Amino acid sequence: MSHSSRITASALVLSLLTACSANQATGRSPASRAASAASAAGAASAGDPYVPGDGNGGYDVQHYDLDLRITPRATPELTGTATITAVATGALARFDLDLTGLTVSKVTVGGTAAAFSRSGSELVITAPAPIARGGRFAVRVEYSGTPRVIDDPVLGRYGWIPTSDGVFTGDEPSGAHTWFPSNDHPEDKATFGFRVTVPHGLNAIANGRWTGTRTSGGSTTSTWREDTPMATYLAMVDVGRFKVRTGRTPGGVPVYAAVDPAVTTTTVDKLFETTARVTDTWAKLFGPYPFGLTGGVVDDVQVGFALETQTKPEYSGAMGADPTTIAHELSHQWFGDSVTVARWSDIWLNEGFATYAEWMWGERSGSGTSVQTQFDQRYRQADSPDLWSVAPAEPGRARLFGRSVYERGAMTLHALRQKVGDAKFFAILRTWTSEHRYGNATTPQFVALAERISGKDLGRFFQVWLYGKTRPTVW
Ligand SMILES: [Zn+2]
Repeated sequence: MSHSSRITASALVLSLLTACSANQATGRSPASRAASAASAAGAASAGDPYVPGDGNGGYDVQHYDLDLRITPRATPELTGTATITAVATGALARFDLDLTGLTVSKVTVGGTAAAFSRSGSELVITAPAPIARGGRFAVRVEYSGTPRVIDDPVLGRYGWIPTSDGVFTGDEPSGAHTWFPSNDHPEDKATFGFRVTVPHGLNAIANGRWTGTRTSGGSTTSTWREDTPMATYLAMVDVGRFKVRTGRTPGGVPVYAAVDPAVTTTTVDKLFETTARVTDTWAKLFGPYPFGLTGGVVDDVQVGFALETQTKPEYSGAMGADPTTIAHELSHQWFGDSVTVARWSDIWLNEGFATYAEWMWGERSGSGTSVQTQFDQRYRQADSPDLWSVAPAEPGRARLFGRSVYERGAMTLHALRQKVGDAKFFAILRTWTSEHRYGNATTPQFVALAERISGKDLGRFFQVWLYGKTRPTVW
């Protein structure tokens, strides 16, 4: 994710504190979790303190099949059927999905009607018959309503956002379960299928490859598939009018670029060409492009961020899709989307790397200053508490998308590069993207890999750069 510069650090603290206390109300007490375990119920959360209540336990989702009818500005705006295929990780009599708002009309498990209840952002489902550990099951949820926009002063508005001609979804970190029932935590990645029906004249774009469009009775239905595992926060549906250009990068990766005709800050040709150039450049530096398709969508939407939605980053027309932002979001296809954090506290593994990619793009394209200058400019800011008193690998929920995660995270990578040299530094990056491809990874795993490839003891180095609360003086 990258932000427009108008988001201030003080707004950040305030809003996330508010969001934090509001979310805690939905968490269950340890006592009720223990009781749940005794009755073979999956946990009501993933236990990630940065996103209290998000995620669930007891099962591992394999695939989401989302059949959505979206009628912008109608009531309800969304009617959906989500069919979720999962494997039980223990004996399971009852389990939760995350879902905020909306009305659930029917739930089936294995084709049989299942009892369900709502509790805060939990949809609690009782299986018609207990599911054995290792058992594969399909849960189908029929629901409707108008998703609630998340209004968060840190990120501006995010989640399900109405646009001038449709709907935009940007879900990091907790927006996905405002529009589809899910195990909404990055730890549980799954493949996705989308079947989206919209009024004739509009287009619906989702992740992955387009597999067909059919128009009948005043509606248009488009189908999309993402066949490589994806975190829920990277799922997107974007509805509206778009100019589309498809093709391939010079390196051979298929491209899908779409720009709302109301956007004046870029064109579909600019988006296509920059996306193609950046994708090929990063593939040389970071390892083969991880997905079957690259691209992007620029919508006429009032949000203060761009987001690395898998295979097609989303950009706000107001903010623009300049080459630096495209370089940032496409680097996330390797760092964040293919290799995904297991816990939100490790978000520097996404944002530190993407910020470093911005610096490298500026240097390589000639549009910016050198990477070393980027580092030096920040290192000179000795009195910047947002850089030095916040640990990038333990920023706290209030600073999840703060300066330290992005900029000190990138500085850490540059300091590592100086310490181990270019050849080993890029070998570390390429081994990281290859060993953890399509999976989840943690900061200790990155530290261990850097030590293995460099042959150096980097414990103190990373301790100071990633966990220290003063300006590092060693590297
Ligand atoms: Zn980012």
